[in-house]
Amino acid sequence: MSQENANPIFDPATECASRDEIRARQFARLKEQTAWAYERVPWYRAQLDAIGFLPGDLKELADFSALPFTDKGALRDNYPYDLFAVPLDEVVRLHASSGTTGKPIVVGYTQNDLEQWRRSIMAIIQMAGVVPGDRVQMAFGYGMFTGGFGLHYGAEGLGCMMIPAGSGNTERHIMMIEDYGTTVLVATPSYAMHICEVGEHMGYDWEASSLRVGLFGGEPCPPKLKEEIETRMHVFCTDNYGLTEVMGPGVSGECLVSRHQQHIVEEQFYWEVVDPDTLRPVPDGTPGELVLTPLHKEATPVLRYRTRDLTRVVTEPCGCGRTTARMDKVRSRTDDMLIIRGTNVFPSQFEDVLHAIEGASPHYRIVIDNEAGLDRLTLQLEVTSGFFTDSYADMEAFRRQVAERLHGTLQVGVEVRLVEPGRIERSVGKTKHVDDRRVR
Ligand SMILES: [Zn+2]
Repeated sequence: MSQENANPIFDPATECASRDEIRARQFARLKEQTAWAYERVPWYRAQLDAIGFLPGDLKELADFSALPFTDKGALRDNYPYDLFAVPLDEVVRLHASSGTTGKPIVVGYTQNDLEQWRRSIMAIIQMAGVVPGDRVQMAFGYGMFTGGFGLHYGAEGLGCMMIPAGSGNTERHIMMIEDYGTTVLVATPSYAMHICEVGEHMGYDWEASSLRVGLFGGEPCPPKLKEEIETRMHVFCTDNYGLTEVMGPGVSGECLVSRHQQHIVEEQFYWEVVDPDTLRPVPDGTPGELVLTPLHKEATPVLRYRTRDLTRVVTEPCGCGRTTARMDKVRSRTDDMLIIRGTNVFPSQFEDVLHAIEGASPHYRIVIDNEAGLDRLTLQLEVTSGFFTDSYADMEAFRRQVAERLHGTLQVGVEVRLVEPGRIERSVGKTKHVDDRRVR
């Protein structure tokens, strides 16, 4: 589906400024943020003192890359409040990331932080074609996770009618879309797919539905899954990127023109891309690890946060009229890399191969085990319903084609097992494509 590129831009003064103006404004804010963190957070003061750096030493933008990084470990070690830069009675909201190991990461927001966050969300949802008056149904959970409240207040701020349905109860979601005339659905892409399928089973006519836009987040959205949702639900889907450690959702979003990249909200975030091994900045347009510094954060300032997300950022102007930098959608994290018999494999490589094969559905699972002492990689792949046949020869030829293409790309052998449509479990939250059962 396509939409006209006639949507208003949230803040043309910052989103369409020259690169020099954008960088100048960011530099001014970086000086403020560095001084704020240094003067108010003992941990940051110790970090900068250790390298003999005073906030006044920031004379030009390049100087900023001399500062130490902040990583997840630092946020975890200072749990819950040691990185807070304001008295707790100025903090009006707490959020936390779900720690998979140990304590979560806690972030605080002052009234001004919430206002800045709202502005980021307004910018990215407007990129996606959401306009005042849209009826926005929330399928994220509320709670400590930043996604629900972040999108909620941003959409309200833009003048949308917010429908805070929350997560779960898929049939109720479909009833609400129908009864309330919902035009925008906020969900993880895998849950949107689930809503789509449940609706189809109920006989709901997605083409006749008022639903127009899918605003996705919370997990990476593989292109194939997005295409399938767009076709079956008759909506236009965009996804956005963010992380709790620097604010929440609202770091970058996809516009209606540049569909494989996302505009960074540069008024709020200073970005750097570094080589994940040497940690030195790479030239613009070169892939590396994204490092973010929020530019207006009062309660929990963060300097040079290592996201572990691998991307590439370009600064050429976009066809939508914005001049803000665009990052490639994050497909892999330095943490996601699998080492299979000594070869580096990223789950996103599976996605790329499957995307190019007709009949391969976006539903799959990668299983790794090492029962025989050697790593074994198995792909369980659903075949799309239109492609599935009872002919053993046809399915075997298809299976071999998938295995050969994967081997060509990954340089490791993959056992492919085909499963019938609907057999791979659908998740309500984030989809887990990798099941690593190796005994170490
Ligand atoms: Zn654009």
